[in-house]
Amino acid sequence: MDEKPVLLIVTPHEEDRDVLSRYLKEDYEVLAAKDGNEALATMGSEQVDVAVVALDMPGMDGIELMTVMKHTETMSEIPVLAIANQGDHDSETNAVEMGATDFITKPYHPTVVRHRVRNVLGGHENEWRKALQSAQDQKIMEMQHSMERDYLTGLYNREAFYRKAAELMQTNRDVLYDIVYFDISCFKVINDLFHMETGNVVLNTAGFYFPTVVGDFGICARFEADHFVICIPDDKMDIEQILEGLDKSIQSLGINHNIRFFAGIYHVEDAFLSVDRMCDWAHIALNKIKGSYVTRYAYYDESMWEIMVREQTLVRDMEIGLYEKQFCIYMQAIYDLKHKRVVGAEALVRWLHPTIGTVLPAYFIPLFESNGFIVRLDRYVWEAVCQFIKEQKERFGKVMVPVSVNVSRLNFYNLDLLQYLLGLVEKYGLETWMLKLEITETAYMDEPEKIISVIKEFRAQGFSVLMDDFGSGHSSLSMLKNLPVDVLKLDMSFTHEAGHSHRVNTILKFIMQLSQELGMEVIVEGVETKQQLDVIAELGCKEIQGYYFSRPLPADEFMKVLEEQDEREKASL
Ligand code: C2E
Ligand code: MG
Ligand code: MG
Repeated sequence: MDEKPVLLIVTPHEEDRDVLSRYLKEDYEVLAAKDGNEALATMGSEQVDVAVVALDMPGMDGIELMTVMKHTETMSEIPVLAIANQGDHDSETNAVEMGATDFITKPYHPTVVRHRVRNVLGGHENEWRKALQSAQDQKIMEMQHSMERDYLTGLYNREAFYRKAAELMQTNRDVLYDIVYFDISCFKVINDLFHMETGNVVLNTAGFYFPTVVGDFGICARFEADHFVICIPDDKMDIEQILEGLDKSIQSLGINHNIRFFAGIYHVEDAFLSVDRMCDWAHIALNKIKGSYVTRYAYYDESMWEIMVREQTLVRDMEIGLYEKQFCIYMQAIYDLKHKRVVGAEALVRWLHPTIGTVLPAYFIPLFESNGFIVRLDRYVWEAVCQFIKEQKERFGKVMVPVSVNVSRLNFYNLDLLQYLLGLVEKYGLETWMLKLEITETAYMDEPEKIISVIKEFRAQGFSVLMDDFGSGHSSLSMLKNLPVDVLKLDMSFTHEAGHSHRVNTILKFIMQLSQELGMEVIVEGVETKQQLDVIAELGCKEIQGYYFSRPLPADEFMKVLEEQDEREKASL
């Protein structure tokens, strides 16, 4: 609907049309016709709210026009203001009989004209204003709705959720609420594997489901992508039931993929804190367990906040750390039990952070694996290790011990990995046997065929390949047969249980036998005590790595260990 009422001026006199139009155009949308026929044509095609009609017109005069209007259904309700010549009482009388509501006479006075037109519209104008008002209200509501809603699911969007949840919690102060943040693990995979539309169906299904969970007591929103958030009274929140119901709705779609929602929960203690922060906390809790096999939900606690802040600091500082050589290489000796000597070492990285102090790999390797930085850090470590091996050659005239480096699984996505390693070996004048490659057990399970073929190429070039953390993950013993590795590094969880559990001893014995048959060496990791050492030795293990013999040492200290060993051995010759 237009903003102003429409007024039609019907008069053959151009100057009258101009004057009246000038006086009225501010309040009305003004149309003009120069005679009765043109007026009828206009009223037939346009919505006209009021007509100002000259009585004296050639052809169809004003009275005739009003007669036709009166008998035409679509025009009969249009109020008419007649333009009479001053003193023409007959015409005035006729006009009134024909239904004109009022007159204006020349010369026109702007205030009088405006006043009369307004009066004539009178009740009509009120109706019109009401209609306009309600149309505007409707439009505002529609706009509001579209501004507050997520276009796909119709749930609230993020901003609306922040507002509505605050309102809800602050008005029902005797109720305790939870903010629950949901997210699908690897939603992108669903979009990639199937089709965007399949992804949308999943989201819409969740979009139908969440309102049934919160009912009239809570609210729900989709923030973006697969992130859904609900605000729900604590006594109505049964997270396991919610996830179960969600699983059922998603499973009913029959998509051939394991689609799993995870949830992070923030229990609201102060309804006046910003909902934005509450959602962040729920999200932090979610990120702790997302992708896990066993846990589907977690409650936020304050330690998570500290962890997140620390992680953000590490990610912020990683580039500068690499540039400023804050990453240092430690070496941990690998001992041969029979000959009682160091036969190898593993390079382990430490971050000497300028403000936090020494940071162990457990705090930054998983982070760098998730953001890809590990590939650059690994290459930095390998290069430093090659330099260390070269120094051994220079100092002892030979390489006393080969050094193992850890090769994060992300490296396997770089097609030039082998060439890169060969290039490094050449650059430092080394041979491939001097640098050993440790690959963690879980990497083998990602894409076994691909990894196996890469490993074969490494070995063909003379690199030894070690399977790290064997037994920690999901490997099966039968998998061993298919793995073309030189050495198994037994995870320390075995070591720590050896001697205490008959079952573990049996498994260890079996692994030793099998690896011998398959021509693989075994290194037992994490030997801390004499007792553990004895049990391990009894089981037939030849090489060990653990605190019992040596902790990881800075590279130059480890070099001293090698020097001492060299001197000892020279002396005993
Ligand atoms: P890993 O490769 O299995 O390395 C052995 C870990 O066990 C080292 O932890 C070592 O300090 C620790 N360890 C050795 N002996 C004992 C013992 O007797 N008892 C106990 N409790 N622990 C022992 P660290 O240095 O903290 O490294 C942890 C993990 O971080 C490594 O496990 C490896 O997976 C990863 N990592 C370390 N350096 C690098 C690196 O340069 N690149 C990559 N990609 N990963 C690395
Ligand atoms: Mg290792
Ligand atoms: Mg290990």
